Amino acid sequence: MATLSFWGGVGTVTGSKYLVEGGGSRVLVDCGLFQGLRELRERNWEDPPFDPKSLDAVVITHAHVDHTAYLPRLVRLGFGGPVFCSKGTADLLKLLLPDSARLQEEEAEYRNRKGLTRHQPALPLYTEEDARAAIKLIRTCPNTGEPTEVAGGVSASFHIAGHILGSSLVLLEVDGAGSDGAGRRVLFSGDLGHYDQPIIPDPVAPPACDYMLVESTYGDRLHDPEDPKVALARVVNEAVARGGPLLIPAFAVGRTQELLYHLRELEDEGRIPVLPVRVDSPMAAAATQIYSRHRDEHDEEYASVVEENRHPLRTRSMVTASTREESKRLNDEQGTRVLISASGMMTGGRVLHHARRILPDERATVLFVGFQAAGTTGRKIVDGSKFVRIMKGDVPVRCHVERIGGLSAHADWKEVLRWLEPLRETPPRRSFTTHGEPEAAAAMAGHIREHFGWRVEAPEYGQGVELE
Ligand SMILES: [Zn+2]
Repeated sequence: MATLSFWGGVGTVTGSKYLVEGGGSRVLVDCGLFQGLRELRERNWEDPPFDPKSLDAVVITHAHVDHTAYLPRLVRLGFGGPVFCSKGTADLLKLLLPDSARLQEEEAEYRNRKGLTRHQPALPLYTEEDARAAIKLIRTCPNTGEPTEVAGGVSASFHIAGHILGSSLVLLEVDGAGSDGAGRRVLFSGDLGHYDQPIIPDPVAPPACDYMLVESTYGDRLHDPEDPKVALARVVNEAVARGGPLLIPAFAVGRTQELLYHLRELEDEGRIPVLPVRVDSPMAAAATQIYSRHRDEHDEEYASVVEENRHPLRTRSMVTASTREESKRLNDEQGTRVLISASGMMTGGRVLHHARRILPDERATVLFVGFQAAGTTGRKIVDGSKFVRIMKGDVPVRCHVERIGGLSAHADWKEVLRWLEPLRETPPRRSFTTHGEPEAAAAMAGHIREHFGWRVEAPEYGQGVELE
């Protein structure tokens, strides 16, 4: 007998955590941090619903913090088993987890200094030391579909998901899980890439499975049919015409590299002028290097640009600010320039410093290129708020607000159906739509039911399912 339970990434796009118990082992798939709404963030501080010490292994689909940044907390609470992921994910985690710890420590320090805490003193969720301990537990697996035994009676295979570098679909095989004594296969889509996304290949076809979890970030939405590159050229050229800065909040890992790829291409094709491009993120430079290094995960177009001795991720007038001083220097710049800074949903990071200056400027433009979760500052701006609260101050929003959906790193619902098509003849017994806000997860389940006639549902937080 085996069970699957949902401890995050349901009813929300954050906090992904799925527990599989079977084959004599307990394996957690993804270990994400909750973000956005306060009631979600508070879950990061509650005792986890399972004993971290009792887990035999953790398996990670991809490096984004909403799938990984609870790992150091798990380690702090006693988990000491192996963490399995692809090589690309491992490299990115070495960058992301210590950074996440620094943010936690800085926030605790800030709260103590400003007396903004009910707890005396405010403590970080975890420290850089916890993050380093978590990194030591990482074991890498090929992203090519060969199975690895991750715990007694449980094996995992990783397949390219085309979302960010190293991202994987994970197929878990649990020995003796079924009522007939046979094994059962559970497929986790992780975050599913958008087809024809630059740099990385498209998602591979889903392997046959008995149970499936499929993401539903865009379960109730389709990406703008406008070619994202055309849209980006339009937004840049309009920003040039206004003579103000263009601020693009973006994840340092994944989205920033895609933006640079598109901007470089638009410059090369003469569709936008050569502009100062400023990447203000201590992590973006390191992430860009990791992207350049993993040739095994580049698509053909990227490889052909490299062959022409061009750096695919460098525009002609680009500066990356790593240190605080370099970042501060950017404040003195005037005129049209492109500023790319994290975090992508404006939940923290250097983008907030830029936002304070740029949002009130009528000539400026803010461009959102990723999903903005409920409760985040990014979402409030997209939804038309005239003021947002940043670092305890009210900041008026007078700039132009733009959004390009097609640059998303997620498949929209039609693309998810396209991805599922190979399973039409051999459908999973039961499917679950995860990683979506409630309406999106329900809508995605509806689309799958209507299109394929499968048994599919949007699970709830804490729900357990028997893998019969
Ligand atoms: Zn992701």
